[in-house]
Amino acid sequence: MEDGPIVPRGELLRIVDEATWPAGRVVDGVDGLLRVYGCERLGDLEDYLAGSLPEDPGDVFIIDEGDSMNMYRPGVAMWSLQFPVTAAEFDDYLFEFDERVTLEKRLEAFPDVQSWRNDGEPSLVPMLAEFLRTTPQEFTATLGDAWRPLDLDWVGSSSHPTNFFWSGTAVVAFDNANAYIYRPAGGRSPNELVLDGETYEEAGWAAEIWRGGGPSLDWLTLFLSTQISGERRGRCPSCGSDAVTHVLFGMPADPGGLAPWMSLGGCVVDGAPSDRHCETCGYRWIA
Ligand SMILES: [Zn+2]
Repeated sequence: MEDGPIVPRGELLRIVDEATWPAGRVVDGVDGLLRVYGCERLGDLEDYLAGSLPEDPGDVFIIDEGDSMNMYRPGVAMWSLQFPVTAAEFDDYLFEFDERVTLEKRLEAFPDVQSWRNDGEPSLVPMLAEFLRTTPQEFTATLGDAWRPLDLDWVGSSSHPTNFFWSGTAVVAFDNANAYIYRPAGGRSPNELVLDGETYEEAGWAAEIWRGGGPSLDWLTLFLSTQISGERRGRCPSCGSDAVTHVLFGMPADPGGLAPWMSLGGCVVDGAPSDRHCETCGYRWIA
């Protein structure tokens, strides 16, 4: 388990070899990547990158989008990387890809409900703890041990997580990029999810796992407590939603360390000042 200080992005190469791609060299397209890696064809570069990743991704594919590129493998779709890129930026991209491949493999290893039952309903805590990079003891002490799998493909309006888990008091869902929480709805939102006679609704918004530097127990606990309790920053005066973010101005040294309800407003305030933003309807106001 790694639990050290978060390394600031771009200060440490984890996958890219410094001898191959020296610091200071900037690449402005896929052609430039081919030159850096001494590859003639895109397929050679894809093979090279697949082989350089710690977690075997199987096949890796690159889409050349001109001023950006996209890398994917089945089940793991990355965001578009804008050129030009430095070695450190490409390293960040490969690192996230590699971590998401690892998470995807762990999620694929979780049992579905039928095989879980057939196996005598074993505790999911060891696998969930591994996913969140903690120990089973810490996981149980914080989030309990009553977790069970749910066979769901889709719940809510916008999310498509691959794995759902029920803790008895909340439903948590993951894919290799995001986490989603569903909380007891007290009979509201009958269209969503009913378990043991209780309805559950999607709580607020999805959390990007990578915003906080990867999945962790602390991160999920914070996310859960925020979403389950709701109203961390009040309710929207326009639509009543409690998916309210606290807008910060200025540039924090570590934007990745923001709590889930915090958002960045940038350095320059334009228009009417506001420090609250409704994620549901977009309304802004001053608390
Ligand atoms: Zn609103």
